[in-house]
Amino acid sequence: MSNVFHRSCHGSLPVAVGGEGVYLIDSTGKRYLDGSGGAAVSCLGHGHPAVIEAIQKQVGSLAFAHTGFFTNEPAEELATFLADRSPGTLNHVYFISGGSEAAEASLKLARQYMLEIGQPKRCRFIARRQSYHGNTVGALSVGGNMARRVPYAEMLIDVAHVSPCYPYRDQGPGESDADYVARLAAELDAEIERLGPETVLAFVAEPVVGATAGAVAPVLGYFKAIREVCDRHGVLLILDEVMCGMGRTGTLFACEQDDVIPDILYTAKGLGAGYQPIGAMFASEKIYGAIRDGSGFFQHGHTYMAHAAACAGALAVQKVIEGDGLIENVRRQGDTLDAALHERFGNHQHVGDIRGRGLFRAIELVADRASKATFDPSARLATRIRARAMDEGLVCYPGSGTIDGRNGDHVLIAPPFIIRETEVAELVDKLGRAVDGALADAA
Ligand code: PLP
Repeated sequence: MSNVFHRSCHGSLPVAVGGEGVYLIDSTGKRYLDGSGGAAVSCLGHGHPAVIEAIQKQVGSLAFAHTGFFTNEPAEELATFLADRSPGTLNHVYFISGGSEAAEASLKLARQYMLEIGQPKRCRFIARRQSYHGNTVGALSVGGNMARRVPYAEMLIDVAHVSPCYPYRDQGPGESDADYVARLAAELDAEIERLGPETVLAFVAEPVVGATAGAVAPVLGYFKAIREVCDRHGVLLILDEVMCGMGRTGTLFACEQDDVIPDILYTAKGLGAGYQPIGAMFASEKIYGAIRDGSGFFQHGHTYMAHAAACAGALAVQKVIEGDGLIENVRRQGDTLDAALHERFGNHQHVGDIRGRGLFRAIELVADRASKATFDPSARLATRIRARAMDEGLVCYPGSGTIDGRNGDHVLIAPPFIIRETEVAELVDKLGRAVDGALADAA
């Protein structure tokens, strides 16, 4: 049993005891280059003194006060900090404890908006087959990660799924970006028509797909076209930036690069950078205003929302990222990483695609480059790469094919924003050995 039931996992996993910059340290003293920030979480690296001090100070004065009775200073300051930097009118900020909670809040906020504006029939979501939005029941329902959905299929909400924007496998040979975008927009349009536009509530997507397929960025123009289809039918656009947001792709919000502003956006991982568990949902003025001027209350909530210590930690993280110019470093080192991945894997017979934006990159593995045939799942390539990488002293985030079994195994790379050129070189060197070792093991 490989999942983390504590006490039973003891002995099968290394025990993390510390961290310094881009490295994690286990109880034997072994150092691991954190090449994926766990799952794109630790964007500031480990042991940052300013963040630790901010959390300690906050816990020393006020750790928690329930939002049913109080607000708190770090929550207000963090909300202002984020609202000042969010695109469009996405400046109404709601704090929860992580990505799945943020997804649930977003789905419910969208639904309540439709009730407030007198469109109660709108209760259907459309999402994409290549997606992960969290493991709680609502979030799992919109997600397209088949392996995670299957055991719970009968209890999930009925969500329609359309094709992702996945140029490597789905853009036809010779098909222009504009034609590919038009094809995907037409598919969404047809799906809305099939369901009945008056029943469709929102379309949900990750701007850059994370764990299900590995840093899959859309072709430019895709989200603008999707937004147009949604607007035409009165369907809301919800973007999930849990993994790709908060600077990871080279801009604070990933959607800025696609020139699109959703109605609701949510984020998590990089917000608190792992120093504290926290997520945030951003609602546009249209959504927020309808509820403010309607029932006046968003019918939702969790005990630990806007947790004072979590907000203080996230605020410190975001101030360091901005103050130290780390998003510029994401762009700079992202280019370095991209070049190093091309140098190491560009001619590799089992690497079909190298992709991503900023410090959110991936390689996709194939049995055969020409046909793009995937490895048989029984080769357990992703599991083998993870194990080999850990032996090498590298944390990376491999995943296996999940969209109807069509995509190959991939390895996601999402190192801390503080990474330096020498560490990028070390990361790619270790990754190369891990991939080749795993391929040899699987042969
Ligand atoms: N959305 C995306 C895009 C994610 O990658 C994840 C987690 O990996 C989630 C939502 C769920 O976040 P959490 O694990 O914090 O509940």
